Amino acid sequence: MTRVLSVASECAPLIKTGGLADVVGALPNAMRDAGVEMRVLLPAYPAVLGQTGSGEIVMEEADLFGGPARVRAVSHSGFELLLIDAPHLYDRPGAIYLGPDGRDWPDNPRRFAALGWMAARIGAEGAGGWHPDVLHCHDCQAGLAPLYLRQRMPHGQRPGTVMTVHNMAFHGLAPPEDLDALRLPRDRFHPDGFEFWDHISTLKAGLVEADRLTTVSPTYARELMTPEFGMGLDGVMRARRAETQGILNGIDTDAWNPATDPEISTYRTVRGKRRAHRELIEEFGLPEGYGPVAVVISRLTEQKGLDLLLDVLPDFLERGGRLALLGSGNADLEQRWREAGDLYAGVSVRIGYDEAQSHRMVAGADAILVPSRFEPCGLTQLYALRYGTIPVVALTGGLADTVIHASPAALTAGVATGVQFWPVSADALLDGLEHLVALHSNPKIWSQMIRNAMRQPVGWNVSAAEYAALYQEIGKPE
Ligand code: ADP
Repeated sequence: MTRVLSVASECAPLIKTGGLADVVGALPNAMRDAGVEMRVLLPAYPAVLGQTGSGEIVMEEADLFGGPARVRAVSHSGFELLLIDAPHLYDRPGAIYLGPDGRDWPDNPRRFAALGWMAARIGAEGAGGWHPDVLHCHDCQAGLAPLYLRQRMPHGQRPGTVMTVHNMAFHGLAPPEDLDALRLPRDRFHPDGFEFWDHISTLKAGLVEADRLTTVSPTYARELMTPEFGMGLDGVMRARRAETQGILNGIDTDAWNPATDPEISTYRTVRGKRRAHRELIEEFGLPEGYGPVAVVISRLTEQKGLDLLLDVLPDFLERGGRLALLGSGNADLEQRWREAGDLYAGVSVRIGYDEAQSHRMVAGADAILVPSRFEPCGLTQLYALRYGTIPVVALTGGLADTVIHASPAALTAGVATGVQFWPVSADALLDGLEHLVALHSNPKIWSQMIRNAMRQPVGWNVSAAEYAALYQEIGKPE
């Protein structure tokens, strides 16, 4: 059995800001069936310790970037975690990355260098008698682990390393003055190493130093090699093309199952979905109408393209569409969406974060809208498919890989599951919405699409096998 230490800054259901947490939290159980024993290394934020209890101390570090630290082994949600208990770094109010003032904690470089540092130490020494064969590092917060591991152990003896890009937008930047404080080798501070325009980039460190790179969909893997999507790191990605692969995210098909979901009137069929639909209309106070009820469940940021949806809302409503949105993020977008909710009877807006409500929305809607400018994989369209809710998505990243566009050919073949539009512009989005309205108005086509969507495999089976094969290839030799 391959042993893998998964290194990340968030892990559902314990602590989550986005899809990264869902994936990190789903992998250990998914990988067990594929013959991999995975443990998750995570900072011991107060909210996490409150849920897991303090467990057993398996490692101590006298000075973890400014204070003492302990690693605690705990079990939660059916898998094992190692928590870095370092009060000087993690015991504070606020969210994971942001202080109460809504800005990044100024010492974030140190806080997440500590994650990489402890990952490397566990890679080199094991923890509580458990020795990983592979370190699997997620996003920039874990980006320094492969570098620190390389400093500790020669090639051939150390565990293999995988760096997964869940979102290239977060570079993990720190000023060059931090080089010594972060215990980084000055001889790697150059453009072929972890320097990014005179700054330290922990993401780039991971991309340069890890044995293998993955990202969360095949299309995003290709996109990252282009200047349009590479966010300044496309050259690095091109240089590492041979060691890069895209592995699609799956979803937790137990947590997202219309037949057992405790949040809804459960259903297994197209017809059964109608009750959840009625309940959603009531919950959001939407007017009666003939067109599709669409939902959005999203962070409100530039990436997600929801400013474009605001531009075409009147046209969508005019065609009988209605919309319920749940989201939070950028203050300006929150304000514009609140105003849209006040202005239009057919639009209902909830600003906030609400997991339970998101289930009711996915279940009750006819369609889900994901007009992202880029989308590494995207999870909400996968939940939607499982609940027979038709995705309308931009043709990018994982959205391109998981939705079968209702083209004439796909409709004739009876395989369509959604609508894709391109480019990511208001005009193209409106074309997509018009296409949705037309499909929805044809009951035969519409129920066929719902059936197709509900049948599409969206779990972890295929991807877990791909990760297992990758770990096997690079795992530390016995
Ligand atoms: P990203 O990671 O870029 O935010 P994903 O689609 O990969 O996008 O994952 C987003 C996750 O966060 C999904 O599980 C989605 O349901 C959840 N989510 C986003 N916004 C909200 C919200 N306001 N309320 C509840 N869940 C949300």
